[in-house]
Amino acid sequence: ASVFAGIAQAPEDPILGVTVAFNKDPSPVKVNLGVGAYRTEEGKPLVLNVVRCAEQMLINDPSRYKEYLPITGLAEFNKLSAKLIFGADSPAIQENRVVTVQCLSGTGSLRVGGEFLAKHYHEHTIYIPTPTWGNHPKIFTLAGLTARTYRYYDPATRGLDFNGLVEDLSSAPLGSIVLLHACAHNPTGVDPTVDQWEKIRQLMRSKSLLPFFDSAYQGFASGSLDKDAQPVRMFVADGGELLMAQSYAKNMGLYGERVGALSIVCGSADVAVRVESQLKLVIRPMYSRTPGDWSHIIKQIGMFTFTGLNSEQVAFMRQEYHIYMTSDGRISMAGLNMKNLPHLADAIHAAVTK
Ligand code: PMP
Repeated sequence: ASVFAGIAQAPEDPILGVTVAFNKDPSPVKVNLGVGAYRTEEGKPLVLNVVRCAEQMLINDPSRYKEYLPITGLAEFNKLSAKLIFGADSPAIQENRVVTVQCLSGTGSLRVGGEFLAKHYHEHTIYIPTPTWGNHPKIFTLAGLTARTYRYYDPATRGLDFNGLVEDLSSAPLGSIVLLHACAHNPTGVDPTVDQWEKIRQLMRSKSLLPFFDSAYQGFASGSLDKDAQPVRMFVADGGELLMAQSYAKNMGLYGERVGALSIVCGSADVAVRVESQLKLVIRPMYSRTPGDWSHIIKQIGMFTFTGLNSEQVAFMRQEYHIYMTSDGRISMAGLNMKNLPHLADAIHAAVTK
């Protein structure tokens, strides 16, 4: 007997289910054209040389540790990720109007962005193209938004239904969110031309439609990372706001590692600071372990507690709170008393939520 005995069998994911069926097929001539993952001429998974090199560097660096990252992830990764899509010389980045948080690949970035909008944006309808990647409506609906569609593909021409797209976005309520595939639209492989992008941009800005770009294939459309980012950069160049979900599953071949980022381009640096603080609140209860569980402080024995604070946090606490400990995060419990304990708790909280 099981308390879960009444649970129905869920259907296979329409994309990943293709692989399940493929694996079951004993035929020697079978071919899997379902999942979007690079394969060698022999049909084997491919790891890019640059990824192998980076992995070697990581393995051979003994100073690397596996401490918790801040809620927003690895700061250097976030900076580079924003530069990759918005351009190294992006004025929005230079003006500190871009907030970037590391997320669990493209899917996680879309989800965090969706939840942020559901909580903090006045319009809860998101327009997604027909067709689109099958996960889009589910991600946004679960995040608390309402998904509606705009026309995108015209089966008759096997190209873009530009008039349909313009009509549908023109009749969307003011301020609606619009999901745009940054390049190499999935599943159609049909992108607007630069001229069409410019018309879409003007239309969206004139109706205050909020762009939410999904960039899962930067580099796949033209072979150039910069060229593929051009439509996005047109929307940043006009000074308006937008959301950007980036996935490195495909263009770095890091499918299983779940590497991605969500950026929000804000109207001012001041807004960006507040947006970032709210993104942390979205991420923390979803999957972040920071500030986390501190029960080890009680479980550990002896005179010391190994707090798990990293050297950066230790330095912060010394500078801002005048609390001194070794840089490995070890504290002597003997130095604590009922008077200084609240001060320490405040300092730890500030350090881990920074
Ligand atoms: N958006 C689109 C359009 C995609 O095709 C994909 C991958 N199939 C993703 C986002 C996200 O994939 P991942 O979560 O693996 O980065």
